Amino acid sequence: MLDEKECVEPWGRLLGGAHAITTPPFQCDAREILAATQRKVLPIGAARSYGDVCLNRDAGLICTTRLDRLISADWVNGVIRAEAGLTLDALLKIAIPRGWYPPVLPGTKFVTLGGAVANDVHGKNHESAGTFGCHVRRLGLARSDGALVELSETENTEFFAATIGGLGLTGLILWVELQLKPVTSSHIDTETLEVADLDEFFRLAEASSDWDYTVAWVDCLASGKALGRGLFMRGRHAEGGPLRSHGEPHLSVPLAVPSWLLNGATMSAFNAAYRARPWAKGRRLVHYDPFFHPLDFVSNWNRLYGRRGFYQHQSVVPHQAAPATLRRLLGLTAEHREGSFLTVLKLFGDRRSPGLMSFPMPGATLAVDIANQGESTQKLLRAMTDATLEAGGRVYPAKDATMSADAFRRFYPDWQKVEALRDPKIMSDFWRRVAR
Ligand SMILES: Cc1cc2nc3c(=O)[nH]c(=O)nc-3n(C[C@H](O)[C@H](O)[C@H](O)COP(=O)(O)OP(=O)(O)OC[C@H]3O[C@@H](n4cnc5c(N)ncnc54)[C@H](O)[C@@H]3O)c2cc1C
Repeated sequence: MLDEKECVEPWGRLLGGAHAITTPPFQCDAREILAATQRKVLPIGAARSYGDVCLNRDAGLICTTRLDRLISADWVNGVIRAEAGLTLDALLKIAIPRGWYPPVLPGTKFVTLGGAVANDVHGKNHESAGTFGCHVRRLGLARSDGALVELSETENTEFFAATIGGLGLTGLILWVELQLKPVTSSHIDTETLEVADLDEFFRLAEASSDWDYTVAWVDCLASGKALGRGLFMRGRHAEGGPLRSHGEPHLSVPLAVPSWLLNGATMSAFNAAYRARPWAKGRRLVHYDPFFHPLDFVSNWNRLYGRRGFYQHQSVVPHQAAPATLRRLLGLTAEHREGSFLTVLKLFGDRRSPGLMSFPMPGATLAVDIANQGESTQKLLRAMTDATLEAGGRVYPAKDATMSADAFRRFYPDWQKVEALRDPKIMSDFWRRVAR
């Protein structure tokens, strides 16, 4: 059942390797495989995590992408129950024409419901909506002893808290019941503003509390007084427009992109061109797809980083420490000179997640893609993790491939509660690295 060997790599294309993998077509098959397996396994979704939370090298993976059925839907109240392998992409296509929208969307829509729960993902509306887990009403969890447990905030509450943001360790999520939010248009009323520096980012972010969605793209090569320079984007659902779902990705990156393509000069040119686009600024009505998922337009854009792959550092630091720490983190990446296509800043709000190991906390979050240049990149990532620790923040496991066990345990002091409820047959490379 778990015999097929396949090379699985996460989105950052690092740390991948051979896995015994199975993709069961039905929930009963998935439960049987979990109960019968003699080796450690890990449930996974679409492997859109950047690092090793979705890997279990030389052991087994139970891939849920064929468990992608809608089980029930109440279109009066906007409550759906669906199998864990349904992607947000598919959910958008089902829900939008009926006037409902996923409550939280990460930067890519190609993730599964199970993956969104297990990493307790956040979107551009964290300040008002909190994380994905805040909108989960019920979960169906299969355990390797054959049990099927229903979890909610009032039933099997310890398991519910350990499963949201629980990195797949407590069992195989079979289905997710989710509260959607009503919309009357598939379009977003957006505004894009230039940001001169970090102080202006904070001013704009604070002045945008009446916008549902906010995020800033930062020119990662700006330094000195211009540190934090970039574009600030804010949006809210338009009223009374069409209810149209999106199309498919239009471009694709060929398999082999030479590593020389990515260097400080090409990154500089990209950052300058992206910031200066005159048509991007100002107020406009756009379809939700380019606003929420601009990167999904190019499938496999991760290949742009070539065979050596790339890392992403994403951290959050509390408000008080944010200005100084963001300066330090952006300064470190600017000094590194390799640059990044994607450096993103945003504020998190104070809505608490039900999850024990959820990443967001009230404060400011920074996400930076960094091409893998070997030891110098590892050194940079270590320095960024140390700066985050000193500021009382934390690094996001869904994006991580390098944090030490010591750093993880200080970021997530509740990890032992999750370990106590971990299914004995489940393990991941990430968990081996930080918790064993
Ligand atoms: C371009 C891009 C942009 C992104 N933007 C954001 C963002 O804005 N916000 C954010 O929070 N994240 C973001 N991410 C990260 C992504 O949302 C998460 O890593 C997400 O969890 C991936 O979902 P997946 O279905 O691919 O799960 P996988 O990557 O396959 O797995 C993720 C975790 O979920 C567990 N898991 C998956 N399915 C199940 C299941 N059925 N039962 C139990 N455990 C399961 C796995 O064991 C693993 O620990 C982004 C990723 C990309 C590539």
